[in-house]
Amino acid sequence: MYCSKCGTEIPEGVWFCPNCGEKTEAPQNCYKGEFYENAPADYKEPLNTSLWIILGILSSLFCCLIGGIGTTVYAAKASGNVGAGDIEQAKENLKTAKGWFIATMIIAAIEFVFGLLIALIG
Ligand SMILES: [Zn+2]
Repeated sequence: MYCSKCGTEIPEGVWFCPNCGEKTEAPQNCYKGEFYENAPADYKEPLNTSLWIILGILSSLFCCLIGGIGTTVYAAKASGNVGAGDIEQAKENLKTAKGWFIATMIIAAIEFVFGLLIALIG
């Protein structure tokens, strides 16, 4: 097998290119912990933290300030964790950010429905 990024030959059973650190085909059924044990120390799993920061800022601007801030704060924390190499903590914070965002959207939907009802009645 050859590295898709730099072309270095990678021995069978190795999940990361020894030259550039690019992820190779990891066994599908391997444990996550096992996967990270095989990862080089500086390997960072791509987490889409900036997307959630943007979503948080947008929802605080256009919808619900508190919910949007909650989303942004936790997404920013996750982004900091990724920078520090703490992927597990980053995932936790990203999960919380998503929770905030979903709650914000539900509240926004309820507010919208009530607003519509009041407009129809009133
Ligand atoms: Zn490589």
